[in-house]
Amino acid sequence: MGNVPSAVKHCLSYQQLLREHLWIGDSVAGALDPAQETSQLSGLPEYVKIVEVGPRDGLQNEKVIVPTDIKIEFINQLSQTGLSVIEVTSFVSSRWVPQMADHTEVMKGIHQYPGVRYPVLTPNLQGFHRAVAAGATEISVFGAASESFSKKNINCSIEESMEKFEEVVKSARHMNIPARGYVSCTLGCPYEGNITPQKVTEVSKRLYGMGCYEISLGDTIGVGTPGSMKRMLESVMKEVPPSALAVHCHDTYGQALANILTALQMGINVVDSAVSGLGGCPYAKGASGNVATEDLIYMLNGLGLNTGVNIYKVMEAGDFICKAVNKTTNSKVAQASFNA
Ligand SMILES: [Zn+2]
Repeated sequence: MGNVPSAVKHCLSYQQLLREHLWIGDSVAGALDPAQETSQLSGLPEYVKIVEVGPRDGLQNEKVIVPTDIKIEFINQLSQTGLSVIEVTSFVSSRWVPQMADHTEVMKGIHQYPGVRYPVLTPNLQGFHRAVAAGATEISVFGAASESFSKKNINCSIEESMEKFEEVVKSARHMNIPARGYVSCTLGCPYEGNITPQKVTEVSKRLYGMGCYEISLGDTIGVGTPGSMKRMLESVMKEVPPSALAVHCHDTYGQALANILTALQMGINVVDSAVSGLGGCPYAKGASGNVATEDLIYMLNGLGLNTGVNIYKVMEAGDFICKAVNKTTNSKVAQASFNA
């Protein structure tokens, strides 16, 4: 573990939590009784895939720069929670994102557990080749549904970004490397305000058409509601099948879980989240972090949906990273459990 401080190594006893807070775990093992089961909401998938974005989207947007060995230990802990996808880092220039300057060391340093996929963000061909050289076997490209956000965040127009992504995704496909596409600002933009569902649909269709196997629709500044989520998804689903869609919600206005539940009821079963609700958005003042993985799992467990992820182990990893970056968790579940 290199230079991991001993205070960070010491985590709370989650076995104790397990005994004292049975409600967190009551449906972890699918222990819903039949009467309860019939009272579940309709239209929900049986299994929900969680894409953990804490190490990349989360840490990239934290003010402190986390030491490389802490990142590696954090990802290794997450790998043992049952999560099947963990976004590791971003192969972007360190001039733009100093928090991700150690991308190669992190990618090479983590233990890649069987059954876990470790995608990395690759904004351009140069980043893509570096990622592959460092051992990446899955990549993501990051676009926006807002012209102004695209210019400020990735320094080019939507059209220019799509041309770059086309090169990246094409190269990835040649190498049998799966590519995921992000669309940010799908429910609002810090510069333009409302974003039309048509614009989100256009960009999503383009990414899907170029070969991205999954399109993650991001409410980057967390302003959406179940109403705007529903309108946006109805439009996007006309062009991209729900099986190829994911949602990525931030909790700025406290709507993330409601928005996710809306998406699940509309047939989506892939959800992005970050342990402890890490992150934010440096281009949008006041935008809070991603929905916390702990809170998402708590809701899904309560709905009787299978995620394959152990909430206690996730809380342990969340406790580790919060101590390491000296911040209070944004997970309501972790707060309630630790303060009880
Ligand atoms: Zn995010």
